[in-house]
Parts: sequence; structure tokens; C-alpha cells
Amino acid sequence: MSKSTDELFKNVISHAKEYGFVFPSSEIYDGLSAVYDYGQNGVELKNNIKTYWWKAMVQMHENIVGLDSAIFMHPTIWKASGHVDGFSDPMIDNKDSQKRYRADQLLEDKIARYDKDGKTDKAEQLQIEMDNALKAENLPRLRELIIEHEIADPVSGTRNWTEVRQFNLMFSTQMGAVADDADLIYLRPETAQGIFVNYLNVQKSGRMKIPFGIAQIGKAFRNEVIARQFIIRMREFEQMEMQYFVRPGTQKEWFNKWKETRLKWHLALGTEPEKYRYHEHTKLAHYADAAYDIEFEFPFGFKEVEGIHSRTDFDLSQHQKFSTKKMQYFDPEVDPETGKPFGNYIPYVIETSIGLDRMFLLTMINAFEEEDLSTEEKQDSRTVLRLHPCLAPVKAAIFPLIKKDGLPEKAREIMDRLKVDFNLQYEEKDAIGKRYRRQDAIGTPFCITVDHQTLEDDTVTIRYRDTMQQERVNSAELQKIIGDKVSW
Ligand code: ATP
Repeated sequence: MSKSTDELFKNVISHAKEYGFVFPSSEIYDGLSAVYDYGQNGVELKNNIKTYWWKAMVQMHENIVGLDSAIFMHPTIWKASGHVDGFSDPMIDNKDSQKRYRADQLLEDKIARYDKDGKTDKAEQLQIEMDNALKAENLPRLRELIIEHEIADPVSGTRNWTEVRQFNLMFSTQMGAVADDADLIYLRPETAQGIFVNYLNVQKSGRMKIPFGIAQIGKAFRNEVIARQFIIRMREFEQMEMQYFVRPGTQKEWFNKWKETRLKWHLALGTEPEKYRYHEHTKLAHYADAAYDIEFEFPFGFKEVEGIHSRTDFDLSQHQKFSTKKMQYFDPEVDPETGKPFGNYIPYVIETSIGLDRMFLLTMINAFEEEDLSTEEKQDSRTVLRLHPCLAPVKAAIFPLIKKDGLPEKAREIMDRLKVDFNLQYEEKDAIGKRYRRQDAIGTPFCITVDHQTLEDDTVTIRYRDTMQQERVNSAELQKIIGDKVSW
């Protein structure tokens, strides 16, 4: 990371804390690693991102419906899905520092260092060797690579490594009063399984016809061993997932469609297209027949924000096998080739899975600007969050110019009219300029000032965050001016 991007990232993190977006969890007890809380502005931004997603996926698609399944699920679900046996990372310990690392992450870091030093051949070679070792689940080979490439523990500086072992990422807990192995349940590591096990309930009760989708937003938990880069890799995080059930044989077409549709969703927020790229998976998960990531260029490099996966009929077939309940769908549509209905089959699934917290961070980084406003006479600057108005936590701030002469009452009256539709903030403390700066810092697109003239002709000044221009408008127009910009 270059100094300026490193600084940008640090500034965003401290800004997020100072202005009530993200706090370290349990801070007064020195925090809890890789767990974060969202503050008063963070929760609004997060809710707005969720709404943007929900509207695009559920409201705009007649054949996609929502679901809110429980976090706790029958433990056999995680056997069937392959998570109990296969959801693990290859870990290695350093004997001197007693620190544990993801073996593939150590190698990735080394590859990045080779790249940075212009040793692209070495980087490519190591990438291929690592991918092969991961694909073959060859754990001793991963260790050999770490030793061959002289990777030292960042803490102790030594190369005294243990064997590589698989480490399951699922958190578990006990259900019921008496601890018994039979009552072991897991905190879900993805929301998808809640959709799979409910797919027939939704299909039947909603009379859904293939192709159709089920969307869900919810918490997921992973005992990530390497927790770093702020809210990029958390132990408790939120996913927005959609499973799209399709006729076998049509999955490729739907996969391509969703891959494109999802990138368009990102770009519709106004992000420069160069900041995004697709990454095709060469090492596919056990359930997938195609997988692409949508990556965003964070200050520390391109990182996955969303995964588009073609999951075949793996999950539904597994649940059929483990539950012994039929997971088939009856397709009444006539196959033009045979002239008969397509009949019974287990649908194939295309999944779009986006991390809400990563989307949140991406949005903050994109919006954050330290703008130099200096003139010849004086030095000046402001920190402004250029959030898309529909995502801004506060849509408008209402200020009485001064705290007397009936201006606060008038400001409150205007506020009462608008607050049914928009999240607003009322502020009367400090000079107007300072109040503007505070709103810029949380991304509020409009500031409305009530002054003495307002009492005479019911006009107010409206000041725009991005241009800092002001104009005088009738207070009756505010509803439309704000509404036009912040609606979806
Ligand atoms: P990574 O390779 O970065 O660990 P993944 O491939 O395991 O991610 P998926 O299982 O495809 O991720 O999950 C879908 C999305 O959930 C990811 O694109 C990411 O945005 C988000 N996500 C996954 N793990 C975490 C985490 N620990 N913290 C925050 N978001 C996460």
C-alpha cells in the first residue's frame, strides 16, 4: 500500500469512528477482535444499502421473493451442505510467536511482495504452485512452499513453522440446558442454507414457477483466523444473498445474466467502472460449476465484494439425501423438443452473495474526500462524504439561523412537515458554517436554513453538499426537491 492510499484508509477508519459510523465492539473492554458495532450514522447507511439491494432484487423482480430464516438451524443441515467436513482453512502456527496464520494468506502476501518488487515471474510461479496445492488439498506442499520462499513470521521474524492443518471456521454452541454432543448447533456461516431448506415452502405457498428467486439479508458467522483490514474480514458479518432456481441445462445462461445484472447494480451508484473487475475462480468450491467474484479496488488492492456462483443441484440434492424428503419441483411447462412437460427435477441454483459490510466500507471509501478549499486569502478544507443521496444517513439538516426571534419554532414546524418522509437532523448550535461542515462529514446532501425572511415569505435557503451552492426556495418546494434526489 502506498503512503497516500494507506493514509486514506486510516483516515476513513478514524472518520467512521469519529462520526458515529463504525465502532470497535466492546471498546471499553479493549475491543473484541474482528467484531464491530455500527453507530447512529452507520446503521442508517447500512439500512439504506439493504433497501437499495432489496428493492433491486425483490421489488423489481416479480419472480423473486424474500425470506428471513433463523440463524439457528438443525445441525444436520451443515453436514449435508458440506460445512462440517469441508468449511475450513489451512492453518500454520509459528512455534516461536505461538501465532496462527492462514497458510494460503502467507503465500498470497509473498506473491504480492514479489509483484511489488517487479519479480512477476516468481509471483506467477508461486501463484500456480499454491493453486495446485490448494486444489489437491496437499497440506504438506503448502508448508514446503512457505519454507522454500523463506516466509518469516511477521511477529517473531523466525521461520519455525508447524505442519499445516485444516481448521473449521464454524462457531458452535449448545442448545438446551444439558451439554450433550447431540445438542451441538452451529451459528450459520452463510445465509444460503436457510433458503435451500425452505425452497419448497416458498415455492408452494407463493405458487412460484421456475425460474424464481429467494432473497435474504442476515447475519453470518465465521471464526476467521486472520482478522484484519477493518470490516473486510469480520467474525460476525452480514450477507445479502439471492438463490435463483432454474431448469437444469439453463444455468449457464442465468449465471451470465446475474453476473452482468449484479455489476450494473454496483455501477448504478455512480462508481467509476475502473474500480471494479471480475475475477474468475479457477479453484471451484465443491458445489460449484462456475464462479466469479466482483472485486472492488480498495486502498489495499482489489478484494472480493460479491460472489456469483453456479451451485448446480448440489445443495438441494444433499438435503434430499440427508433429510430423505423430496426436494423435487414439478415443471408443467412443455418441452418443445419432446412435446411433454419437463416434469420432476431438482432445480439448479445460481447464487449472488454480497457482503453488506464490505459494501459499506466500499461506499465510505468511495465517498470520502478531503477537499482543499483554500483561496489566496486563507487556507481552508473540509471533509465531505459524497454519498449517493439515496444512501445518505441524514437526508437534510434544518437550521434556524439563530436561536431566537421565533426561528427555532419555524424551523421545527418545517421539520415536522418533512420528517414523516425523510430522516432529518435539527441543529441550532454553533455558527452556520460549522454546522455545514458537520453535515458534510456525514454526507447530508441538503442543509436548510431558516432566517428572518422565512418568517415573512416562507422561503428558506437550501445549501447543496457537493457544490456548496445556496439558493432561496419556498419551503413548500422542499418536499419535492429532497424527494427527487433521494428516491430510488
Ligand atoms: P473471502 O475469500 O474474502 O474469505 P469468501 O469467498 O469466503 O470470501 P463467500 O463465502 O463467497 O466469501 O461469501 C460471500 C460474500 O460475503 C463475500 O463476497 C464477502 O463480501 C462476504 N464475506 C465473506 N466472509 C466475510 C467476512 N469474514 N467478513 C465480512 N464479509 C465477509
